[in-house]
Amino acid sequence: MIRQLRVKTNSRTELVDITQAVQRMVSESGIRSGICYVYVPHTTSAVTINENSDPNVGRDILKELNKVIPFDDDYGHTEGNSAAHIKSSVIGVSKAIVVEEGRLALGTWQAIFFCEFDGPRDRRVMVKVMKD
Ligand code: ZN
Repeated sequence: MIRQLRVKTNSRTELVDITQAVQRMVSESGIRSGICYVYVPHTTSAVTINENSDPNVGRDILKELNKVIPFDDDYGHTEGNSAAHIKSSVIGVSKAIVVEEGRLALGTWQAIFFCEFDGPRDRRVMVKVMKD
């Protein structure tokens, strides 16, 4: 069974912490031990796992990505959002997280972030929880 999460973004680039929503889906699945697969069905967004206790970590990630992959760089893609496509490929559109005792087995400082690279938009995240 696939579960879907709606994410409404408010900025051009933004990290949205979706950990609690994903954990809720794991709990609802009733699965105690397995894998939680998080997939973003978009070409200009991504999903990553990183620190959520200091919001500067997320800001730094976006700042440096914007530096390495500038918004304007004489790109060929005429839609004007090549930077977002490239960032999506660099960060990636899926993550697999171990589930143990009904909980996402994330480290103390880890959180799951939806990464917006071409917002603001209404986005979807697909979550599939698979039993051992
Ligand atoms: Zn495009």
